[in-house]
Amino acid sequence: MFKGFTRFLQGPGERLKSLFDPQAVPVVSSGPRLISREDHPVSRQHFSDAALKVLYRLHNAGHQAFLVGGCIRDSLLGRMPKDFDVATDATPEQIRELFRNSRIIGRRFRIVHVRFGREVIEVTTFRGKPGDDHSDHIAQQSDAGLLLRDNVWGNLEEDALRRDFTINALYYNIADYSIHDFAEGIEDIEARTLRLIGDPATRYREDPVRMLRAVRFAAKLDFDLDVATEAPILEQAPLLLQIPPARLFDEILKLFMTGHGVASFHLLCDFGLFAMLFPEADEAMNELPWTERLVELALESTDRRIREERPVTPAFLFAALLWGPVQQRQAILEGDGMPPVPALQAASQQVISRQLQHISIPKRFSMPMRDIWDLQHRLPLRRGRRVFQTREHPRFRAAYDLLLLREAAGELAPGLGDWWTAFQEADEHEQRRLLGKVGADPAGSGASRKRRRRRRKPRSPSSET
Ligand code: ATP
Ligand code: MG
Repeated sequence: MFKGFTRFLQGPGERLKSLFDPQAVPVVSSGPRLISREDHPVSRQHFSDAALKVLYRLHNAGHQAFLVGGCIRDSLLGRMPKDFDVATDATPEQIRELFRNSRIIGRRFRIVHVRFGREVIEVTTFRGKPGDDHSDHIAQQSDAGLLLRDNVWGNLEEDALRRDFTINALYYNIADYSIHDFAEGIEDIEARTLRLIGDPATRYREDPVRMLRAVRFAAKLDFDLDVATEAPILEQAPLLLQIPPARLFDEILKLFMTGHGVASFHLLCDFGLFAMLFPEADEAMNELPWTERLVELALESTDRRIREERPVTPAFLFAALLWGPVQQRQAILEGDGMPPVPALQAASQQVISRQLQHISIPKRFSMPMRDIWDLQHRLPLRRGRRVFQTREHPRFRAAYDLLLLREAAGELAPGLGDWWTAFQEADEHEQRRLLGKVGADPAGSGASRKRRRRRRKPRSPSSET
């Protein structure tokens, strides 16, 4: 199997030394490579007990067992792996028999989840080429080349070649701690290049989500896309419209809520992918200059919070992402004579139902998102008991954060955010003083609303103040 294997020849790939054994001379190779334990830095200490348990139990039962994908890629890059994917020649049924704490999931792509407390190890049977249909575990492809099902079992090498990127096709063998590289993934890790295995256009047609994965890994790892991998994306971006909204929601969380949201966002926009995911937000960005800045600021804040290990919620991020379209629609409805509060509610409803056609946002996030929007209308009303009710609202903090971003993005003139900052920090006496100040300040009181409403009727979609 490893006849193309060339072990540590002298050659131009000098930089490989930094990744592997400092004594070793780098490999120059094409074709499969095997890197033995003493020549690579990946160690069992990088892996969780659960992952090791799964590997050893498969191995002891006579099966092949490898760690593959993100955990090996990240270990090679000196990052702590966060989840573990196992590849094996055992079938899902055989895996199920070995692990009581496991279940088979997925139809399109059957895998086994082995659970240890909160940790889940994903165990996948080697896949073959979709055409090699020698069992009842079939693969299906649509006329357009989309892989509808991929359950044809294969061997290790075939499994490697059906994976997406070369850097994700590195296998760590529990039998001898070696790494198998079938697709020159080591070179690409060294060159910090993201390269699809096979013909990129075909691979994106098989599974358009690979375009989002390309962006995600480029953003997360700060890698460049190989020219051929990058080339078809702009044209093939509309293929994303075929992907079920629930799958896209999961991908959005990985793009935006894992610490590299700003970089992901810029790449999505550059490749025309953002418009396929959030068409209304994309349109709003073309018409209202502050909307793009608002999204950037929300993502910057999310990235920062993740770095600081503070909690983040998709509700806040989606509230910021879709606020532009909500404001556009609200302005239209108000222009037709609807008062601001019902206009905001109707606009929210419309934007959510349009967005759900692309990305399914679970109710547990869309409900608080609507609260955050409703509160944008209540925040300028700073009189009497209302202020305390607003302050006590469970989404007040998120709504206040969105208000600050709206000011920072240039949608609103600054002022209201500072007022709420002061109010939250104030003691009772100071709060009374702040409330009194609002009474004397028409810009902040409910009394000015009528005037503002008339002013914004023509077309300005921005709200309040
Ligand atoms: P991370 O878990 O850090 O986000 P990962 O590379 O492990 O990154 P997973 O989604 O966990 O990503 O997938 C595990 C592996 O399965 C990948 O590394 C890749 O080899 C393969 N894989 C996942 N999704 C696809 C896909 N759409 N097409 C081809 N191979 C895929
Ligand atoms: Mg993974």
